[in-house]
Amino acid sequence: MKVLVLGAGQLARMMSLSATHLDIQVSAYDVGTESIIDPVTFIKSELSLAEAISQADAITAEFEHIPDDVLSVCERSGKFFPGAQAIKTGGDRAIEKALLERAKVPCAPYKIITEKSHFLDAISSLGLPLVVKTCQAGYDGKGQWRVKSEQEIEAIWSEMNAFLSSGTALAPHTIVAEQMIPFDREVSIIGVRSKSGEVKVYPLTENQHTHGVLTLSIAGKEKSEIQQQAEQAFSALSSSLNYVGVLAIEFFDVGGKLLVNEIAPRVHNSGHWTQQGCHASQFENHMRAVTGLPLGDTRLIQPTAMINVLGQSCIPTAVLQVAGTTSHWYGKSAKPGRKMGHINVSAKDLSALGDALSKLADILPEQDYPGVESTAKLLKGD
Ligand code: ATP
Ligand code: MG
Repeated sequence: MKVLVLGAGQLARMMSLSATHLDIQVSAYDVGTESIIDPVTFIKSELSLAEAISQADAITAEFEHIPDDVLSVCERSGKFFPGAQAIKTGGDRAIEKALLERAKVPCAPYKIITEKSHFLDAISSLGLPLVVKTCQAGYDGKGQWRVKSEQEIEAIWSEMNAFLSSGTALAPHTIVAEQMIPFDREVSIIGVRSKSGEVKVYPLTENQHTHGVLTLSIAGKEKSEIQQQAEQAFSALSSSLNYVGVLAIEFFDVGGKLLVNEIAPRVHNSGHWTQQGCHASQFENHMRAVTGLPLGDTRLIQPTAMINVLGQSCIPTAVLQVAGTTSHWYGKSAKPGRKMGHINVSAKDLSALGDALSKLADILPEQDYPGVESTAKLLKGD
C-alpha cells in the first residue's frame, strides 16, 4: 500500500520507518517546496501532487498549517484521514475551542479577540495574568504573549493588532486570551481511532516544557482515575470529529482535574516514547488506522522516558551505552532550538528508569537537556 503524508518533517519520516515492515510505502508532500519527497532519504520524486494523490491508497498529514487548496484536493479524493475538518480544527484555536464546547470537555476560561474592546473585556472578565495566543499560527510556544500587569497592555495590544491586521477577508486572523492556569503539571493523551470507530489509547504521558518547548516526557506513572478522565476527553473529542488516525490531547493537571490545553490532529512529540514503550508505536498505529488495518497494542511494556534533542548537531553516542536507551535522529540541519532528534529510555520500573536517567544526565549537559537529572532524582525518590 502507498500512503501520502502532507508535510515532510520528522513525523512523516517516523511514519515511514514504522510502516516499512507493514509493507506500506510512505511519500511526503513538502509544502514549502511543493514537491513530493521520500521523508527518510529526502530524495525528490518526479511525481506532481495530483499524481501522488491519485497513486496513494491513503493520505494523511503531519502538521496543521496546510494551504486550503491542498486540503480541498486531498479531501475530494475520499482517501484523506483524519480529513480537512480535523486538520483545520487543530490549526485554528478558535475552531478548537468551539469543538471543546460542543463536546463538553473542560478547558481554561477564554475569550476570542478580533478588536481592542474584546481584549479589554477579556482582561476585566478573566483577570490578569492572561496567556494570549494567535489562533491561526504558532507552534512550540511561538505566537503567544503573557499579560501579567496593566502596564503591558498597550505594548502587547500593538503586537496583537499587527497580527489581526495581517489577516485577509478570506482568511481572517483571530486571537484567543486564556486565563493563566496555575497547573501542577502538564500531561497528554495519545490515542488512535479506526474507520469503524474503535478507539485505543496509550497510557497518559507527563510532559516538561522549557521556554514553551517540550523537553522531556515520561509514561508509566499515572493513576487510573486521571487516565480515565483523559480517556473520556479522547472519546468525546475523537467521536465528535468522526476521527480516523492518531490524535493527541494536551492537558493541564490542576489538583487532579484535567483541563484541555490544546489538541493536535496527528502524531505528537509527547508520543515519541511509544516507539520503545509499546508494541505498536503512535506512528505505526496512525499508519494502521488510515490504511484500514487492525489497530495495534497500545499497552505499556515498561516505563519509558523521552528526551528531546534541541538545536544539537548530533546525539552523543555514549547514550547508547546506557541499557534500555535508543536514539532517534531526524537528519535535519541544526539550528538553535530546532527539534533534531530524541532519546528514548525504558526500564523495568520507575526507580530503574530513574537510574538510567541518572546515567544519561552524566552524558547530557543540563543546559542542553534540561530536567534529566531532576527527573532521575524524583523517580529514584532521592
Ligand atoms: P506546542 O506546539 O509545543 O504544543 P503551542 O505553541 O501549540 O505549543 P501551547 O501548547 O498552547 O502552544 O502553549 C505552550 C505552553 O505554554 C504550554 O505547554 C504551557 O506550558 C503554557 N501555557 C499555554 N497556555 C497556558 C495557560 N492558559 N495557562 C498556563 N500556561 C499555559
Ligand atoms: Mg502545546
